[in-house]
Amino acid sequence: MASFVKKGHDVKKVQALHHLRLFIRPVQYPSLTDIMAVREILQAGNDLLYRKSKPVDFRKDHVEALMGDLSDTLVDFMARKKLGRGISGPQIGVLKRAVYVIEDGRHLSFINPRITKRSKKKMMVWDSCFCYDLDIFVLIERSRDVTVEYYTPVGKKKVEDFSGPLSELLQHETDHLDGILSYQHLKEPVRIMRRSEWEKHGRPYIIKGWEG
Ligand SMILES: [Zn+2]
Repeated sequence: MASFVKKGHDVKKVQALHHLRLFIRPVQYPSLTDIMAVREILQAGNDLLYRKSKPVDFRKDHVEALMGDLSDTLVDFMARKKLGRGISGPQIGVLKRAVYVIEDGRHLSFINPRITKRSKKKMMVWDSCFCYDLDIFVLIERSRDVTVEYYTPVGKKKVEDFSGPLSELLQHETDHLDGILSYQHLKEPVRIMRRSEWEKHGRPYIIKGWEG
């Protein structure tokens, strides 16, 4: 049965198959992971992006399905834009505190992440976002180091320190969970450029405050 229910098939059909499984054991049935999909990414201006997300409830929410959608959507966007590392629930219209990151080939999930400590030391970062289609870059200030408390998809609590790129990324993504887009940190309107210009400048990223 799983063989003909692949990505892209409609949810109703799969739900029906889930229902059927009650009657036709032990036939293989598709798991939720079989129906994960690339979701639409909301664009700046969409009201949902400016709302505060709710914590993930491990008992009620379909954590695996949500993380699968975030992963699929991130992988697809990264492949199309040749850029990008992280995505959060609200960006696909799910107001839940979940973040998915792909950094140096590593896939990382952060459920209910909370920044518990920010360094006084700051860095200046050219930041972009899927919500600007990775076409607009803004130069903003971020803390150089952060401590993040979060849960893994199986509900295990972790506390970790991050510095530089991952610190910057997690500040960007946790902002999304609070309804904040990076351009809201702009202090001077001149600190903005289109991707075409950013490419010409040699893809500047952390330009001050951190030596990787
Ligand atoms: Zn973003």
